[in-house]
Amino acid sequence: MGKVWVVAEQREGKLKKVTFEMVTLARQIGGEVEGVVIGKDVKGLASELGEYGVGKVYVADHPDLEQYTTAKYTRVLAELINKEKPEVVLIANSAQGRDFAPRTAQRVGAGQISDITGYEEGVFVRPIYAGKAYTKVGATSHPLIVTVRPNVFPAAEKTGGQAAIEEVAVSFMPEDLKAIVKEVVKQVSGRPELTEADIIVSGGRGMKGPENFKLLEDLADVLGAAVGASRAAVDAGWREHRYQVGQTGKTVSPSLYIAVGISGAIQHLAGMGSSKVIVAINKDPEANIFKVADYGIVGDLFEIVPLLTEEFKKLLK
Ligand code: FAD
Repeated sequence: MGKVWVVAEQREGKLKKVTFEMVTLARQIGGEVEGVVIGKDVKGLASELGEYGVGKVYVADHPDLEQYTTAKYTRVLAELINKEKPEVVLIANSAQGRDFAPRTAQRVGAGQISDITGYEEGVFVRPIYAGKAYTKVGATSHPLIVTVRPNVFPAAEKTGGQAAIEEVAVSFMPEDLKAIVKEVVKQVSGRPELTEADIIVSGGRGMKGPENFKLLEDLADVLGAAVGASRAAVDAGWREHRYQVGQTGKTVSPSLYIAVGISGAIQHLAGMGSSKVIVAINKDPEANIFKVADYGIVGDLFEIVPLLTEEFKKLLK
């Protein structure tokens, strides 16, 4: 195995957790683990990656890379791949990674394996049929682009190493600069981001209305959790689409997923089936969600959720 690259995901000069998860995977794959950091004023992040055992980090630091756009990231990464010829390039299967990974793969003529959740004896494991089954996929040619589902692999621990840092010359073609980000509007919330949250409390049609999500927010705040929703709740206008979990929403893999008033349609399971522990609260004992749940509570959510919140408050005081 030659070079295995981890393309760091960062926001505002901070590495996202999935970056360290990809370092773990890179080590499992073997070979020389190297990093790529793209952005503006990001040299410090390269040193940070070194502390997690990444031997060498390529840094593409340029004022035009302050804001992400598909064309700019693709240009930088594709040129670097063509020059350095890594065997495997790991990219987060995040909204951003899903955007530029396939374009980069096409640009460098690489194969791509998407949304992987495991690695066993030289092959990658990924869910298929909306998470109903898993398939093993290998590659016969390189470079290979692999997008990695966040929250599945454990984050790498610090090893105290130091990376050799190589600055990458960045230049763009006029067509790379056509899309201009004029403004980034931040959604302010004290809760963790859905795809990074360790605990998620999600509500479905059983919540009966937007005002009742307050019950889930109270529970989430006691647990330090994010609040998600099924598509039925989003389609009804009770929650914004960015909170939707499932095939046409976000894919999440928290340590604990609490599904409240959610029936467990296959399209919902596609987005949360790889959660480590699933708890379902539903008044219908036949609900499909109980087939995937580790713990099930059959009953009225309007009675159960406030009780849980109170009990957790006492426990976590
Ligand atoms: P329902 O199926 O109506 O279930 C509501 C549940 O609440 C029921 O099980 C009921 O027993 C329970 N309940 C009601 N009252 C109470 C109470 N008082 N106490 C306890 N339990 C109660 N869905 C997604 O979630 N995410 C997706 O990304 C997604 N993508 C889709 C893509 C496609 C192409 C298609 C066709 C569908 C998609 N869906 C998606 C929709 C999916 O098929 C389901 O329709 C949806 O998940 C149902 O949402 P729900 O479980 O909240 O609602």
